[in-house]
Amino acid sequence: MPPKKHNAFMMFVHQWRNNNAEGRRMTTPQAVAHCGEIWKNMTEQQRGPYSSQAKNANVAARAKREPMNSCGQAISAVEQEEREAAEKQMQMKLAIERILRDGREQHDLENTKFVFAAFNYFVKNNESIYIPAEFAACLYSLKSGKTSTYSSLINPDHLIFGHNSEARDHAESTHQLPLPPNAMGESDMSRLYSNILEYLRSCHSDNPHGPLVVFTSSELMPVVKGCFRYLSCDMDEEDKQNILVYDIQYLFYVLKKEVMEMAHLPSNTINKSITDTIFANDFFEYHSGISCQYHEDRDRSKYCTQSMVARWSYILSDHLCGHLAIKLLLGKHLPPKQERKFKVISPNVDDSSRNTSFVSCKSEVKQENKFVPTDHLMFSASVENASDFPSLNARKPRVNHQPLSDYVTAQEPAKNVWNVSASKRSVKDVEDSFNMSRRH
Ligand code: ZN
Repeated sequence: MPPKKHNAFMMFVHQWRNNNAEGRRMTTPQAVAHCGEIWKNMTEQQRGPYSSQAKNANVAARAKREPMNSCGQAISAVEQEEREAAEKQMQMKLAIERILRDGREQHDLENTKFVFAAFNYFVKNNESIYIPAEFAACLYSLKSGKTSTYSSLINPDHLIFGHNSEARDHAESTHQLPLPPNAMGESDMSRLYSNILEYLRSCHSDNPHGPLVVFTSSELMPVVKGCFRYLSCDMDEEDKQNILVYDIQYLFYVLKKEVMEMAHLPSNTINKSITDTIFANDFFEYHSGISCQYHEDRDRSKYCTQSMVARWSYILSDHLCGHLAIKLLLGKHLPPKQERKFKVISPNVDDSSRNTSFVSCKSEVKQENKFVPTDHLMFSASVENASDFPSLNARKPRVNHQPLSDYVTAQEPAKNVWNVSASKRSVKDVEDSFNMSRRH
């Protein structure tokens, strides 16, 4: 709302009340009524100073007003938010570096434990609360790889009113989980939150008084924070515990540098763009057998949270354990052994087992399976059969090749002189044609 404008009369009332003891005893409406009588009898010159004071006050008020951005937000408030976000980001980075420094000082970086966590969501509301659909977390260390996993499908019972089509589109293009009320999994949010807290505490058992920290990808950080906020909504204040959500990609970067320094390798060749690219390449994306059954059956492993946290463990192991001479174990540092679902056919197998579709014109091999076209633009023909290929040989002569005059003669034998070419006409023909019978 724009600030109230000053006017000359109210300026006069204000000053009159300040200068008269009688005025100070009056209420504002009484003072206004009293001053109205005086104002009526004042000349323009007498009113002049009050008019200019009001103008000056209006200009001063406009200058004091907060400048806004195009979204109607005060610029100073937006800048303040940005400063706070940068501050938080800096604190997170320092905290990650501290965890690694502690590990290194205790000569136990290999056994330092990290919890990786990911959420799938149905929809997000305006206050950056996400309605969760699936959760997974795993405990990881360089030495032992991925040692335990917690995962659950989530049934939040209902979505936010008016967001159904948005949720359907999001689900369709990513996790393909059925929307509430048909959603599967845990439907009691408080119980789920307590179970997650219990799992996280068991993972942080080395440091029971420390904060609960989970790592997730930069992209999922707002989702994981928003889902935890949603799950803890119904909890009592004393049961809530602050879960810190940190960036796994920053962890990967500093861990890579740290590990290379420990191995006396030049770590200054590593920067965050390199580790981010390795992370984004997601080498294990198409591995089967690492996601939950629902996503395994639908071939949506890439979007399964259980598969995500497992893949992060494998990526980190793949790029870090080698420097520390840690032996990679299948199912812990690398995906479990895959069953081969394909068959390699040697190109040198016996000719009789091959059913070739390339039959040359002179070939003795007969095509056994006749190709039946399914597309109307294609056609099926045998190279041996000349009539199927008129352009190759056996071209048939076209009819109507004679000159028009011969054609006419052939079709209609000459009945009179006008149908006969001049060179072939006889005198008799001409005479006959003049002796045509006439009607009388
Ligand atoms: Zn899944």
